[in-house]
Amino acid sequence: MPKKAVQSPAAAPVVRPLQGTVIVTRQVHFNAAHRLHNPAKGAQWNTATFGPCNNPRWHGHNYVLEVSVRGRPDPETGYVIDLGDLNALLQESIVAKCDHRNLNEEVDFLRDVIPSAENLVIAFWHQIAPRLTAGMLHCVKLYETPRNFAEFYGPDAA
Ligand SMILES: [Zn+2]
Repeated sequence: MPKKAVQSPAAAPVVRPLQGTVIVTRQVHFNAAHRLHNPAKGAQWNTATFGPCNNPRWHGHNYVLEVSVRGRPDPETGYVIDLGDLNALLQESIVAKCDHRNLNEEVDFLRDVIPSAENLVIAFWHQIAPRLTAGMLHCVKLYETPRNFAEFYGPDAA
């Protein structure tokens, strides 16, 4: 009789987690109108300071928002954060409130804020950070045009 091969018990499948801090980014888009205007200043100051961006009849941008999250990949998923979850968060907290809106008049968290790209990234940070489900918010970057953009690395960043 042939000898039975000695079978070792099947090894349980394993995955090999890799160590390291990674930054992942989700990009979303929205279109919105705004006006750069400081109501505490006179018309002449506003025109001189903001030029065509002070147009009282508004103008718009096709905004591109990039939100980056920093962390270590989860050993079970390999994800820092599920980018689908991050997208859902951004759609709910930013896009749903800003898309096809007037940023000066229609967005609750921008009330009395001059909606420059600089102010928008700070305001967006405070909407996004408390809602993150994994990782740490690393950067909020907003393109007003392909050539003009602002980045914010958080209130504690230098
Ligand atoms: Zn503008």
